[in-house]
Amino acid sequence: MTAKIIDGKAVAASVREECRTRVDVIKERYGVTPGLAVIMVGENPASKVYVSNKIRACEEVGINSTKYLFPDTASQEEVLDLIEQLSIDPTVHGILVQLPLPKQFDIERVLGAISAQKDVDGFHLYNVGGLVVGNTIFPPCTPFGVMRLLQHEGIEVAGRNAVVVGASNIVGKPMALMLMQNEATVSVCHARTRDLAQFTILADILVVAAGCPNLILEQMVKKDAVVIDVGINRLPNGRLVGDCDYEGVRKRASYITPVPGGVGPMTVTMLLVNTISSAERSLMAASYRASTNIHEAHGAQ
Ligand code: NAD
Repeated sequence: MTAKIIDGKAVAASVREECRTRVDVIKERYGVTPGLAVIMVGENPASKVYVSNKIRACEEVGINSTKYLFPDTASQEEVLDLIEQLSIDPTVHGILVQLPLPKQFDIERVLGAISAQKDVDGFHLYNVGGLVVGNTIFPPCTPFGVMRLLQHEGIEVAGRNAVVVGASNIVGKPMALMLMQNEATVSVCHARTRDLAQFTILADILVVAAGCPNLILEQMVKKDAVVIDVGINRLPNGRLVGDCDYEGVRKRASYITPVPGGVGPMTVTMLLVNTISSAERSLMAASYRASTNIHEAHGAQ
């Protein structure tokens, strides 16, 4: 038996359909269109592709998106000024700074300047803290997308052994926290882990986000494991592959995500979900404030 292939494109399409409906409801109920601001500094070719994918995805579901492009030579102050303006602009519900930033930037400072209420990537320390205690308002998009894939396939997480390979702030660590929040027993491996296979072989759910082609081979995977390959690597021949030996691993796993077409389409989609949730939250809060003001005004008469 070979693994069932989890079709990230199809799941992403169905989540985007839900997004379109939520955007329509917001427009009808509040007369407001959710807005996302995307800031990019410099000319990184991969970042350009990611940014245009995000803008296109927004258009697809009816979110207003605005791109702010700065040259490589831009100063941190210029970018911080823009973030400050966007943070108080009521038409903007999400602010995203495309990473990486040029060397002269202090990433923590820039991400920390985004209003925690509009931090749709979930990288602001406030939201990272929320994730640690299990109630962030903005789950980081890639691990959020992985959780959505598991949920879509009806894969039980509670009580299972989950191993995350990769411990970055944007994928591995939040992934481990989300799996833990869903009551998995979680191990986290990284580049300094000795004998990776002794951990991966125990995984009922194996999430790999290392950025190394062929890191996970068939013999490193437990029979019937669920394997989620987050890695995206371009081989010298131009082919895009994940971190797993796909053909080998799919012989042992019960589920596997392909690369491309697995986790990738979910990442951008969860950004749309976070932006819409942010708009809903702020509009509900504003209408609650307006209604309590009316009550107070009446009470004062
Ligand atoms: P990163 O470079 O910031 O972190 C990589 C992590 O993997 C580190 O913790 C490192 O210690 C670990 N690692 C590296 N080599 C290893 C090895 N040989 N054994 C065990 N652990 C090892 O990368 P990242 O931003 O977390 O991204 C990881 C991969 O996921 C990349 O291929 C990236 O392109 C991909 N990615 C995909 C998506 C998506 O939407 N599918 C989103 C983000 C990142």
